[in-house]
Amino acid sequence: MSRVYNFSAGPSVLPEKVLKDVQTNLLDYNGCGMSVLEMSHRSKEYSKIHTEAKQNLKKLMVIPDDYEILFMGGGATLQFSAIPLNLKKNGKADFMITGSWAKKAYKEAAKFLDAQVAKSSEDDNFTFIPKTVKDDFRLDADYVHICANNTIYGTAYSDFPDTNNVPLVADLSSNILSKKIDVNKCSLIYAGVQKNIAPAGMAIVIIKKDMIQQDRDDIPTYLNYAIHAENDSLYNTPPAFQIYFAGEVFKYLLDLGGLDEIEKINMRKAKLLYDFIDESSLFKSPVKEEDRSIMNVVFVTGDETKDKKFIEEAKTEGLVQLSGHRSIGGMRASIYNAMSEEGIKKLIDFMSKFEKGNK
Ligand SMILES: *Cc1c(COP(=O)(O)O)cnc(C)c1O
Repeated sequence: MSRVYNFSAGPSVLPEKVLKDVQTNLLDYNGCGMSVLEMSHRSKEYSKIHTEAKQNLKKLMVIPDDYEILFMGGGATLQFSAIPLNLKKNGKADFMITGSWAKKAYKEAAKFLDAQVAKSSEDDNFTFIPKTVKDDFRLDADYVHICANNTIYGTAYSDFPDTNNVPLVADLSSNILSKKIDVNKCSLIYAGVQKNIAPAGMAIVIIKKDMIQQDRDDIPTYLNYAIHAENDSLYNTPPAFQIYFAGEVFKYLLDLGGLDEIEKINMRKAKLLYDFIDESSLFKSPVKEEDRSIMNVVFVTGDETKDKKFIEEAKTEGLVQLSGHRSIGGMRASIYNAMSEEGIKKLIDFMSKFEKGNK
């Protein structure tokens, strides 16, 4: 068996130890004679998996007691609809447009309420995160929405913006569990799990309990946060295998030393790669330095033919999925938690070799 260095933006590389543990238990989970894939979501065994996954996420992210953790099918995209439907009160929400996902969230919300763009970096190809002051947001908005890490453009917020007490909603799909964050600064955090946690098809929603509106009979049952909260994410059959896998990743990260430790590792990995790019005479980062993502590293040579050649040749060295998103081209190395430091070093060695041969 030979595993490649997978720099895919998502679904993406998962920790090898967890994949192996899951494999070991695939036919017979902990001696119960069946796979988690085959298990009733009402069984004693599954119940333990479910509860522990929640508890361990709470511990990892230091989620306060006044927040609810929900596991929901449908990925982050379904949350683009669920959020406006659930949080709507005055019927207004403000959006920071920092990339394609942020824009999709905005367009979806605009179907259900008065969605307004607070600031956008679209005119500059989303190469930076616009600065904001609290007056940039409407005081009577139900929430302000940001995309904390822009997967396609390789930018990220270094801190949450001041929204003047308007509830902050943050899409953390591509940087959840990559570093410590202060959950208290957000009223709702959501993330599709396929970038840093588990197989695709599920979202984690971390919502302040007082944001959950009761008796909202006007919204689809599955999208109703109150229903999921009331039923501990077991109103219907949950994405049980994803929850199990996520739980294994949470345990793995806790054993590693938690988010303090993973943050140190991620900072070191990103620095290696950005330092190389900054010193390179061939590769460039199009992203404003202070807004660089530590998860998705976007770079270009400035010559499309060379970019293509780089991506093709990298593949033959076992360095795969390095093309930029189809909407922007160039290269992107997604270096999520599960990408090893060794993988980064292999990539840098190859970039260096390519640079020498392509002056
Ligand atoms: C991948 C991604 C999404 C979409 O996730 P799905 O689970 O495919 O719906 C949304 N937001 C961000 C920031 C992403 O990276």
